[in-house]
Amino acid sequence: KPFQLLADLIKLQVFVAPHQAIEPDIAAQVCEQHGFTFEREKREKGGGVHKQEEVIAEPEAPADEPEDQLKLRPPIITIMGHVDHGKTTLLDRIRDSRITASEAGGITQHIGAYKIEHDGKPVTFLDTPGHAIFSAMRARGADITDIVVLVVAANDGLMPQTLEAIDHAKKANKTVIVAINKCDLESANPMHVKTQLAERGLQTTDFGGDVECLEISALKGTGVDDLLDLLALQAEVLELKANPKGHARASIIEAKYQQGRGAVASVIVESGTLKTGKPFICGPFAGKVKALINDRGETIKEATPGTPVEVIGFEELPRVGDSLVEMESDRDAKKLAAERQDELRAERLKVPQKSRMEDLLAHAN
Ligand code: GDP
Ligand code: MG
Repeated sequence: KPFQLLADLIKLQVFVAPHQAIEPDIAAQVCEQHGFTFEREKREKGGGVHKQEEVIAEPEAPADEPEDQLKLRPPIITIMGHVDHGKTTLLDRIRDSRITASEAGGITQHIGAYKIEHDGKPVTFLDTPGHAIFSAMRARGADITDIVVLVVAANDGLMPQTLEAIDHAKKANKTVIVAINKCDLESANPMHVKTQLAERGLQTTDFGGDVECLEISALKGTGVDDLLDLLALQAEVLELKANPKGHARASIIEAKYQQGRGAVASVIVESGTLKTGKPFICGPFAGKVKALINDRGETIKEATPGTPVEVIGFEELPRVGDSLVEMESDRDAKKLAAERQDELRAERLKVPQKSRMEDLLAHAN
């Protein structure tokens, strides 16, 4: 019984949480107490359980793709700004604008991001406004946003979360486009907002700077088309390209358990084309693409760079910001997963006793 085992371990001055690994010599002592003989699994160095050490690595991130293989991809946009300045209203307005007559009534599926077409050009929006996802992804080096749209309410001006967003965008070296929102209001004062922006080092173009800025009303829809024009144009200026051939690589933007579907995650494809049936590695777990579902709730066969898509087929719940990387075979995926899990276990063993105790206490609460 786990509690008995934990009690035995505490007697041996070993403080671990229920799922933590223990050292072989400790395991041997516990076995002995209960009349068992501890036998070590025969492991080669490197931790693999396989006889012949063969190195499995995930396919390389595309550092220098052949120029002729590169194709323009949609820009990935994050909307940031102070609470109540109109981020959700703007995201909804943009999402609705792409629903054409033929799709009217079509249900949009929340998968953490959506892709629209504007004048035949695709643009992808992360659906979670605010800094949480931005920070989570950056913490894992999964910095997939290309452009930050900073929403500032024209009647309110720069507020604490606006400043935070500016700070985030600057640190991450992102292109910022300012959308001065709520310009339909009597009390709107876009000039004041621009002055405040200039004071923060964001000189808008009409102030002689290089920050693109638009006056909009997300509520009425005014200026939203101009914003989309500008975003599509910026994508071309930034020359956002990716190779749709080769191994797919995607970034996790959301993950959850769903009854009957298991661990489900939304991803944005960064390069290659993600296809059903393909094995993959994601963090320390293997998986296989069982189904791909787009932002309209339709099952699709493949997803190209810049496309957000829901993936079914994860072994375990991945973390936001993790990379999903297509592997050559199930076998390779499983082997790499086993190696990564061994590494994680080895790292956990290195955790000093004090923090193990803290861990145990944390679990007890
Ligand atoms: P968020 O917290 O940034 O996501 O802000 P919301 O989109 O939830 O908007 C907060 C409030 O401002 C809501 O009551 C919206 O209806 C309102 N709002 C958003 N955009 C506009 C706009 O362009 N004009 C006006 N007058 N109100 C707006
Ligand atoms: Mg909101």
